[in-house]
Amino acid sequence: MSLAPTPAKINSLDPRLANQIAAGEVVERPASVVKEVLENALDAGATRVDIDIDSAGTKMIRIRDNGSGITPEDLPLALARHATSKIGSLEDLEQVRSLGFRGEALASIGAVSRLSLTSNSNPESSEGRVAISEGRDMAAQVKPASHPRGTTVEVRDLFYNTPARRKFLRTEKTEFKHLEEVVKRLALSRFDVDFTLRHNQKVIHQLRSGQSQSEMQRRVATVCGPAFMEQAIYTETGTPELKLWGWVGLPTFSRSQGDLQYFFVNGRVIRDKLVAHAVKQAYRDVLYHGRHPAFVLYLELDPALVDVNVHPTKHEVRFRDGRAVHNFLFSSLHRALADVRPGVETLPEGTLDTAEGDRINTLTGEVAPVELTQGGLSWGGGQQHAVYDRPAAGAGAAQMQSYGSLHPPPRIEMPEQGAEEDIPPLGYALAQLKGIYILSENAQGLILVDMHAAHERITYERLKSAAAQEGIRSQPLLVPQSVAVSQREVEIATEYTDVFHKLGMDVAEGGEELLLIREIPVNLRDSDVEQLLRDVLSDLIEYGSSDRISAHMDEILSTMACHGSVRANRRLTIPEMNALLRDMEETERSGQCNHGRPTWTALSIEELDKLFLRGR
Ligand code: ADP
Ligand code: MG
Repeated sequence: MSLAPTPAKINSLDPRLANQIAAGEVVERPASVVKEVLENALDAGATRVDIDIDSAGTKMIRIRDNGSGITPEDLPLALARHATSKIGSLEDLEQVRSLGFRGEALASIGAVSRLSLTSNSNPESSEGRVAISEGRDMAAQVKPASHPRGTTVEVRDLFYNTPARRKFLRTEKTEFKHLEEVVKRLALSRFDVDFTLRHNQKVIHQLRSGQSQSEMQRRVATVCGPAFMEQAIYTETGTPELKLWGWVGLPTFSRSQGDLQYFFVNGRVIRDKLVAHAVKQAYRDVLYHGRHPAFVLYLELDPALVDVNVHPTKHEVRFRDGRAVHNFLFSSLHRALADVRPGVETLPEGTLDTAEGDRINTLTGEVAPVELTQGGLSWGGGQQHAVYDRPAAGAGAAQMQSYGSLHPPPRIEMPEQGAEEDIPPLGYALAQLKGIYILSENAQGLILVDMHAAHERITYERLKSAAAQEGIRSQPLLVPQSVAVSQREVEIATEYTDVFHKLGMDVAEGGEELLLIREIPVNLRDSDVEQLLRDVLSDLIEYGSSDRISAHMDEILSTMACHGSVRANRRLTIPEMNALLRDMEETERSGQCNHGRPTWTALSIEELDKLFLRGR
């Protein structure tokens, strides 16, 4: 006997329940409320927002703005689902400039809290209206209320009517961290807006607006910490159609987590796999294994070339031409990082003239207090000391490789004392310490160089450029290596045959689900080429590009460089040390060794004076 299933009865959801379900997507925790309400304030053209929070937002969130306000007629509509002033047609959606457009935030928040929306759109009056929506009855009642032009949204007792949700909330500390992170991101996206964040009546952040370089720098330093600013370089590249600007942390300022990574696409903060991959690839050669770079970057492009309607909270985007964006990001950042070497001016015009706060003074050439940390003197960000504003001295090729070998030392003349502007960025060697460090004097003070680390980078960069000049030599395999793959992978491999050829690999179709490796680069002889091929294919499928083969070859060169470099405990003569210093000034990426450790640091006279409590 078989039981035929009875069809379930279909009901239309009542609007309150529908909103509560939608709220599940939009309102995960207090931080989500803050995000939506703040975005509305910014969309309304506010230049100032005040955020008041009680108990990490579970008791109360109040956000007041001085934006355009909402007219009395529209007030009840603002709380209704799928009601928005931001788009009216599908065409609008193709080039959204506003942060919101789905018209569901206020309705969703109102469905899971006690929400009041007070607004006034008339700059000449202080007469506003308040609409109150309580999860239970959505029908908002509207009453007069005094309010200057702008809007205040107050959200109390979040999730009071959805206990299941409330159970998912973490400790007050954690919830507040999330909420603060939202404020930070939005503050980084809009330097022209004042932000104040108060928690339990205490001011946590007060960020004043300002769009000059130094004002923006001040905000980034406040939000990301002064240490980031001290060890970041400013970069700006591209065209008005595709532009990238912002701050990238030096490889020596890496993190154990990817928690200091802010990426904005047309002012919207996003987390995107393609972007993450391009950035990672750009740092590949300079970052310590397993470390994460820190950055605050802004990508600007025609809004029609990005789809922001991929995700309800709009954290992800889709680029129309992902491959072009990937290439642009990678090459811009790669270039910026290659210039991290002594003597290269990495800061933009205008950063040098204004002193902002204590620590940022490092950027102005004045010196922040030297920190005594557990490990002794902290790495003080000497690499970006903007005082190195001249082209590096033209030592170089002639002295190549002479240190660390038995060749006669090159002759470097010490210039007449006194001509300060003739002193090269890394100065002139004074002595060698413990067979490890070179001590050198430049115009500002003392320079310390880790000679093995520095030499390793120089040798590595040379091996790389030699390899690039020579081209990749490949060798055919006597017996082609067959690799079982998916049909999709066979397709991709055939599509990218040329790319493989350029990298010295010959990969051919061997069957519906089979590839044949027929030729490989000579120096990958001892590598696991099958694994390499698989990784490259998965990159190509995901990002349309892969740098694994060259990364792997670079790794081999890097190992060779490490073995071929001056070892610790080898005594160098003063001319040998000077030759090394001059080479560092000439070599790309010489600010850090192949493993991402710094190769040198500086202690200015002012810093030394502070150490000895020597007032000036
Ligand atoms: P969306 O932002 O997607 O349009 P919301 O539910 O967040 O949807 O807001 C609905 C509408 O309410 C907005 O389109 C806007 O017209 C109005 N609104 C909300 N907050 C504000 C504010 N702070 N200032 C002015 N108008 C607002
Ligand atoms: Mg909104």
